Amino acid sequence: MNIADSAIPLLRPLAGLLSPSGLRACLSILIFHRVVPEPDPFLPGDPDAARFRWQMQTVARLFNVLPLSEAVARLADQTLPPRAACITFDDGYADNVEVALPILSELKLPATFFIAVGYVNGGIMFNDQILETLRRVPAGEVDLRCVGLPPESVDTMAQRYAVAAKIIRAVKHLDAAEREDRVQALAEQSPEPLPTDLMMTTAQLQRLANSGMEIGGHTQTHPILMSIADNQACEEIAGGREILQSWLGQPVRLFAYPNGKPGQDYAPRHVDMVREAGFTAAVSTVPGVSTHHSDKWQLARFTPWDTTPLRFAAKLVRNLT
Ligand SMILES: [Zn+2]
Repeated sequence: MNIADSAIPLLRPLAGLLSPSGLRACLSILIFHRVVPEPDPFLPGDPDAARFRWQMQTVARLFNVLPLSEAVARLADQTLPPRAACITFDDGYADNVEVALPILSELKLPATFFIAVGYVNGGIMFNDQILETLRRVPAGEVDLRCVGLPPESVDTMAQRYAVAAKIIRAVKHLDAAEREDRVQALAEQSPEPLPTDLMMTTAQLQRLANSGMEIGGHTQTHPILMSIADNQACEEIAGGREILQSWLGQPVRLFAYPNGKPGQDYAPRHVDMVREAGFTAAVSTVPGVSTHHSDKWQLARFTPWDTTPLRFAAKLVRNLT
């Protein structure tokens, strides 16, 4: 911690004013995806272990961190402590167990992990297929006809990452089956097989649950719910919950909408499906905080990101305003 970071505790009274206890309480819910062992230029938005450690230390200095299920219950009965916060992870990356869990356990911070069950045990999500292919393709020019783009040079790491980001944008909203075909064709340009250990195994998932962390549903294949038929959406939501419960031997009560923007990624009918599937609360990716008046089926969440503890702390406090 440098001298500027010693100012972080000075932000705590401000956070307490903005996030008091009881009737006027508000809840901050943070989103993470991956926590990588070392800095990775291909994953600029995801912290490495060292950064995640100071991020969690900063959260612990400013907030009272609760399990999400407890926070939802206390939000409803107006008994939330001041400066209440929850930590959540989406998708089910193996590094959540191998890198983040030891840090969370050491700092005694509870967290909730939302798992897309279709990728557990060796799967890979389309965005990772693209990133991991672009990491591996030979330097020079890469043929991108399969994803409907002109060829690009990939001589530097920065170029590789920029091309991967461009491909992700180009295919993100395609029909899932078509996207899978196109991304699979791209992946065939990798000179070696793509990794099969990015996502958790069931053993890792069980280890996470046994260590006291909460597990939530995040569908089976992470579709944009708005773009699939209602019977499919129901199966994604309810079927994903059943699979998780069979692995864990315990009820799964929390849900996170894939991508999470209301009106864009999910609609009110999907909120009904989540309720009917047996979940008791759900989270979106609308930034901000939740209060007693918030819809517990669409709780706000945000991704705090910055490069120094003080700036990160300022983002956490600014989210309260
Ligand atoms: Zn997700």
